[in-house]
Amino acid sequence: MHNLSHSARRPSWRLARPEIGSITLALLTALYLIAFTNRTFFTRSFEYFDNHLSLAAFIFGLTCLFAAFTIAISVKYLMKPLLILMVLSAASASWFMDGFGTIIDVDMIRNAATTTTSEAGHLITPAYLLHMTVFGILPSLLVAFVRIKHRNFFAKLRWNLTAIVPLLLLALACGVSSARSIAAVTRLHKDLILTLNPFVPVGSAVAFVLASEADKNIVAAPLGTDARVAGPTRSGKPRVLIIVTGETARAENFSLGGYDRETNPELNKHDITYFSDTSSCGTATAVSVPCMFSNLKRSGYSHRAGLANENLLDVFGHAGIRTEWWENNTGDKNVADRTTMHSFSNANDPRFCTANECLDDAMIDQLDTWLSNVKGDSVLVLHQLGSHGPAYYQRYTPEFARFTPECRTGEIGTCERQSVVNTYDNTILYTDHILSSVIDHLKARENSIDPAMIYMSDHGESLGENGLYLHGAPYIIAPSQQTHVPFVLWQGTEMKAMVDAGCLTRRAGEEASHDNLFHTALGLMSVKTSVYTPKLDVLSACRAPASGASS
Ligand SMILES: [Zn+2]
Repeated sequence: MHNLSHSARRPSWRLARPEIGSITLALLTALYLIAFTNRTFFTRSFEYFDNHLSLAAFIFGLTCLFAAFTIAISVKYLMKPLLILMVLSAASASWFMDGFGTIIDVDMIRNAATTTTSEAGHLITPAYLLHMTVFGILPSLLVAFVRIKHRNFFAKLRWNLTAIVPLLLLALACGVSSARSIAAVTRLHKDLILTLNPFVPVGSAVAFVLASEADKNIVAAPLGTDARVAGPTRSGKPRVLIIVTGETARAENFSLGGYDRETNPELNKHDITYFSDTSSCGTATAVSVPCMFSNLKRSGYSHRAGLANENLLDVFGHAGIRTEWWENNTGDKNVADRTTMHSFSNANDPRFCTANECLDDAMIDQLDTWLSNVKGDSVLVLHQLGSHGPAYYQRYTPEFARFTPECRTGEIGTCERQSVVNTYDNTILYTDHILSSVIDHLKARENSIDPAMIYMSDHGESLGENGLYLHGAPYIIAPSQQTHVPFVLWQGTEMKAMVDAGCLTRRAGEEASHDNLFHTALGLMSVKTSVYTPKLDVLSACRAPASGASS
């Protein structure tokens, strides 16, 4: 109330707000963004450029472009919201880029947008909130607080152009003077420009929103409507295939593939086939999962093409095979749109779940009931939570905490790297146990069903190699830890009898990929359809001619 005594005509809070010209504020914000939210970009620029003069020209030219852009948006009423949006986006993006080496492209935004709140919650840590307060909220409050002096329209246009045109010319001069060097570095290191903050994250978000709008009306075109089961099995028992999909398991940490720690003690006791050289379709769930169930192959897959075509489960449906999708991850990514779906995290069974996140044992718990109800040929997909980070320590029960010390926090950057690896390896032990349990359940019923299991991880994970954590790197620059995935096949006695063992062992050492899932699964279920390609079925070359599927 005492404020009123200062001036009767003008409230004093207005006096306290400093005035600033629109061009000055634009320049200050541009300098803030480039200097305080681009640590990864600068670190990599210094690393990649050999020539210091070219480096200086590159950075000075980009600073001029930043400044020209912020001046261009210095329009009354729009300027403050846009600057604040850029500051907040840049602060958030810099946390993930600088801390985890994350590149925020369209796929990463899609992944974030389609994830569950419990999964996202692991990333919103106290340290993240502190970072957001210092680098996002405080600067935004400053922008909101100052009073901007705007000129009238024509004066503003004249002044802005007077600033923008020289800035663009300077940027051009910088670019031309070091064109060869800049072109060479950006071509060799495709990740460099992708770390430019906040333009790449904001641009990706805009591209994602536009694409999502366009994707809304897509209807999946029928696929493999000619599909039919070749005939009953020799014994007349129904075929049962369980496909375990995901999550975040990397082949490098599977002892089945040569890892020097015993991370697959249970699978090792089963008669399984391990395909040691398997690559994923993407580096994130939202790309890999729909891609592996489509027949498009990695080369032909896009988010839109995935939505526009039916998938493996639909082809099984056309063949009269019962399909079901069990969801214990962040959603089926539209793969089960036309399939019966059962969500475990929604059920929130207190024996396995806390806060809408469940151990994969929740699915094993229901498996016997499901198997008891099998009447005819059936396919069940288990979309597991697996090794999903960064809270690896929440992915397994205490008996699997065999590699110690663990990193018992989602803020893996605060742990010793070895403890992060220990914790991750414990998640692999747990997945090993889950897969082994699936096989045990199937084996126990071989007198009434003809079973098989395929396990493929959706993508791998970085655990601090080259400063990189988690996953989702653009495929073109992704390290092998994110794309080299485990692929396990187990067949019951009857299915196995139709395959030449030596041939299969040889095939398992050769290249495989997510492209093989669609055709291998059709082959295992003896589905005949024009969309089945024997060459992509890892078993077709090893099957006796009369018994396998054919096109
Ligand atoms: Zn995933």
